[in-house]
Amino acid sequence: SAVPEQVALTLRDISFSYPEQAQKALESLSLHANPGEHIAILGRTGCGKSTLLQLLTRAWDPQQGEILINNQPISTLNEATLRATISVVPQRVHLFSATLRDNLLLAAPDASDEALSEMLSRVGLEKLLDDGGLNSWLGEGGRQLSGGELRRLAIARALLHDAPLMLLDEPTEGLDATTESQMLELLADVMRNKTLLMVTHRLRGLSRFDQIIVMDNGQIIEQGNHADL
Ligand code: ATP
Ligand code: MG
Repeated sequence: SAVPEQVALTLRDISFSYPEQAQKALESLSLHANPGEHIAILGRTGCGKSTLLQLLTRAWDPQQGEILINNQPISTLNEATLRATISVVPQRVHLFSATLRDNLLLAAPDASDEALSEMLSRVGLEKLLDDGGLNSWLGEGGRQLSGGELRRLAIARALLHDAPLMLLDEPTEGLDATTESQMLELLADVMRNKTLLMVTHRLRGLSRFDQIIVMDNGQIIEQGNHADL
């Protein structure tokens, strides 16, 4: 099936517990995002924010409830379509022992070297090109990246992937204030017509979101826009 241009996302009464865990990580959670809507997800550590995003990529399936993209249960979408529909900046970014090029191509197999280099400079990682260019080796046996560089690499991957649904799990965690606002500006530009779920701890900038949800214990305890809350 084709990759949709825009995504309406619906979570209907989702409950989920991890294998061997008695406690539910998500409980009777419902949520709807219209195409192009931006939702901020807040809540204290361990409340289920990352779990929620992981269910959308089908890293796990819920024991109860349904997740729909444009009214179609995601369990009926083939894996390739689902992957092409969703861009993710995960909370824990994985660096592969591979060239810089291959670490980026993962997200956008068809991108040209030129497009990759341009994206690296957009996210402020152009200095990674200094030794060996896109052929430089990252990860084991090569260059390790700092926490902030890893976040930026993940943002570059997500932007190269350019899918209609974006899931960002604290994309600017650990970045200094200047870099953070640069990244948020870059993201705002690219995400304009995309449906977006962003986990964040930061209260500044929340007025830009269409919906803000606050989670606790796997449930939504508050929901509204910036003016409501
Ligand atoms: P943080 O703000 O610290 O990232 P979070 O809201 O993203 O927290 P989750 O990572 O979704 O929280 O975790 C929700 C609950 O599920 C926590 O109690 C956590 O310990 C548990 N949990 C997360 N991953 C697993 C796993 N793979 N197996 C078992 N339990 C897990
Ligand atoms: Mg998390």
